[in-house]
Amino acid sequence: MKIAAVETLRLARGITVHAGPVQWLWVRIHAENGLYGTGETYPHPESEEAVVLSRLAPRLIGQDPGRIEGLWASMFDAVSYSGWAGAELRAIAAVDMALWDLLGKTLNVPVYQLLGGATRDRIRTYNTCYDHISFLDEPERLAESLLEQGIGAMKIWPFDPVANETGGQWITPALLRRGLEPLRRIRARFGDEMQVAMEFHGYWNLRCAIEIARACEEYSPMWLEEMLPQDNIAAYRELASNTKLPLTISERLMTTWQHRELMASQAARVVMPDIAWCGGITEARKIANQAATHMLPVAPHNCGGPFLHAATLHLAASVPNLYIAESVRRHYAGDYQGITAPFARPSNGFFPLPPGPGLGVDLLPQVLARPDMTRRKV
Ligand SMILES: [Mg+2]
Repeated sequence: MKIAAVETLRLARGITVHAGPVQWLWVRIHAENGLYGTGETYPHPESEEAVVLSRLAPRLIGQDPGRIEGLWASMFDAVSYSGWAGAELRAIAAVDMALWDLLGKTLNVPVYQLLGGATRDRIRTYNTCYDHISFLDEPERLAESLLEQGIGAMKIWPFDPVANETGGQWITPALLRRGLEPLRRIRARFGDEMQVAMEFHGYWNLRCAIEIARACEEYSPMWLEEMLPQDNIAAYRELASNTKLPLTISERLMTTWQHRELMASQAARVVMPDIAWCGGITEARKIANQAATHMLPVAPHNCGGPFLHAATLHLAASVPNLYIAESVRRHYAGDYQGITAPFARPSNGFFPLPPGPGLGVDLLPQVLARPDMTRRKV
């Protein structure tokens, strides 16, 4: 069987996250027999679409779609000489995800089966709080609403408004207290019942990051995520040696090669690849294996669209060294509605194994008919 066509699909209307509006790019890899697989990346679909159609499609059409490793290498070769760590790798990630989906559909098995099978019967999750309830204004009500659904771990970013005021270059004791307030209030009300991950979106310099990390220590957050920009692993090593708390790094690192440096530094206590950014399922699985050899767990980043959500659950079902999988209640309970069939909700903080075949998810017919849909095919 051969790849007959490569198609991109995107909506003009996206969703809003902390960094602003985000749109998803979907890629369909069509086989000669009429089957197709779908992958996804984000957040700049026009750029990613251009790479898929102009640079990657010529390496794909006419090839056997089941040769995923070989096609990954060929796609990487098509973009690597000019520098790959951007839309190029995100485009590869989307195609790679589509190839795994297609292979699963072809063999009529879920993707996690192709990855070696499930290593667990259910997948522990935490909620990233892009929620209708504000973690700044009503942290107790938000935590309570999650606990009512059995979700005992949540991620918040209360220092982001402070970084917006100071550029992440300075902080005062009063600003430290303000940033800590939601974490303090959740701890005061719920004790150890709710685990809280603190997210920083890479906004801080090293000095401020050390001060914030030390101030967080008395409230025992689950982890400190991406306190610094991702480009200086030595600075992260310095931060790690200045706090008792575990660091989680980083959804913005791509490929096994960038993760090699991270793991050699021993700065991270949790490794967080994003399948749609790091190079796809193929690369994320290698990163998880690489982490395992460093005695580290992974907590895959899952803050994109419905196909990333599905792919993350398949990876999380399979890799032995899963710490916890990210999910966003607002996404699976709201933003994905009308785009894909509904996803299973977590029960007592755990997702069931995801369905197949492939990723077990597809775009609904009404999405394809939306007036803001753009489809291109080569
Ligand atoms: Mg993050």
